Amino acid sequence: MTTFVDRVELHVAAGNGGHGCASVHREKFKPLGGPDGGNGGEGGSVILTVDSSITTLLEYHHSPKRKAVNGKPGAGGHRTGSTGDDLVLPVPDGTVVMDREGNVLADLVGHGTSFVAAAGGRGGLGNSSLASARRKAPGFALLGEPGEAGDIVMELKSVADVALVGYPSAGKSSLISVLSAAKPKIADYPFTTLIPNLGVVTAGETIYTVADVPGLIPGASQGRGLGLEFLRHVERCSVLVHVLDCATLEPGRDPLTDLETIEAELTEYGGLDDRPRLVALNKVDVPDGQDLADITRASLEEAGYRVFEVSAASRKGLRELSFAMAQIVSEARAAKPVEENTRIVLRPKAVDDAGFTVTETEDGSYHVRGIKPERWVRQTDFSNDEAVGYLADRLARLGVEDKLWKVGAKEGDTVIIGPEENAVVFDWEPTMAAGAEMLGRRGEDHRFENPRPAVDRRREKAKGRDAAESEYLAFEALSSGRTGAIDEGDDEDH
Ligand code: GDP
Ligand code: MG
Repeated sequence: MTTFVDRVELHVAAGNGGHGCASVHREKFKPLGGPDGGNGGEGGSVILTVDSSITTLLEYHHSPKRKAVNGKPGAGGHRTGSTGDDLVLPVPDGTVVMDREGNVLADLVGHGTSFVAAAGGRGGLGNSSLASARRKAPGFALLGEPGEAGDIVMELKSVADVALVGYPSAGKSSLISVLSAAKPKIADYPFTTLIPNLGVVTAGETIYTVADVPGLIPGASQGRGLGLEFLRHVERCSVLVHVLDCATLEPGRDPLTDLETIEAELTEYGGLDDRPRLVALNKVDVPDGQDLADITRASLEEAGYRVFEVSAASRKGLRELSFAMAQIVSEARAAKPVEENTRIVLRPKAVDDAGFTVTETEDGSYHVRGIKPERWVRQTDFSNDEAVGYLADRLARLGVEDKLWKVGAKEGDTVIIGPEENAVVFDWEPTMAAGAEMLGRRGEDHRFENPRPAVDRRREKAKGRDAAESEYLAFEALSSGRTGAIDEGDDEDH
């Protein structure tokens, strides 16, 4: 079935993570009580969730930019910054989410289905959490990560709640344009210049869509005048509104006759008898139109119709009509069962979370890509040497340095980490641990005339570590007793 398409572009921005805090505990008689800087709070995410009581994307036409709350920075005394609240955006059932290139990111079906449109940034670890055996009192903390941000496109293929039927020129399109707050684009009409209009109407609490049905003339149900094409829209509408022209000068036409003709076509088409109907007597701004409306009203009410005298030109009676339509629409929605669903739609990860790649660029520099190295760079406060050293250690442990050596990078070469538009550029200074080990293995570094076997050095390192470990435990006991410190090598999740 042909459908209307409600389409909106939305800019979403998640909250930034709060920065970690670098602080040292101070107390009388205990001047250096250990690092006590708390972690930053996580930024809020922007989450789309299907709410079946919503039927349009209207709200987003009005304010197409949405941002979630930032996480708060950590503080001394192990105080963690508060988490930024997620921003939950309700969307109609059946909303399709795409990127600007039109790639589908999620197809949201079923009440409660959720999709994270922009993930909140992680909070940075405070120096208390960064303390470890080797780094007992870190003088730095990690920065909070920026939240994801970008444009998404949401599309909803929708069926109108209300259908306006009536003769050509009765004023259906005009009524839609004055009733509606937004006019979504309509798709899929390749072969005709007759295009139905779709409008989104707000009346009190109820938001609903109204479509006109063009080309409805005698014989339409048999395929004359394209009416059939558009009658299909009516099938799933909750209300039919007859728009009757009170100012027509065509011979043989008057509101009552017009209504009978249109009803005859609807009956021919079939299946619409159970749909509630309203009547709008339009063009009452014209003096003769008001007279004709007065005469017609009584007969229509006798026949059981609720009648509204309106004018698209002077806007008379629109409020009453829109509230009457809203009432029937909300009753119809209440009668429809809601299918619960709490599915979470996950976006596929673009890059393997554990890995990284190093590629040599044309100008001889080295480009490092990977989720972890890029995150670590964002977390680094480059004005703090210790923080930069920590970054170098992390990169070395992940194997980035080894890899750089392997692909032929030399000290002083340019190393770029991150996406081109947002990269950090280094002059590479290999950290001694990884660099020396590599050189020793290769046996070509003049600085090591007599390199001891790598195995020995590793054993030594491990031994040193054990000793440091017990020192560290003692240190932990002395400090406030808060655990949660993350040891070297446990870089997995911060
Ligand atoms: P449709 O074919 O039913 O969609 O009718 P349109 O909305 O295109 O209107 C047909 C003509 O009637 C246009 O020239 C409108 O300006 C005019 N018209 C629509 N509503 C009114 C009204 O309330 N008062 C007057 N005076 N003219 C109207
Ligand atoms: Mg029209």
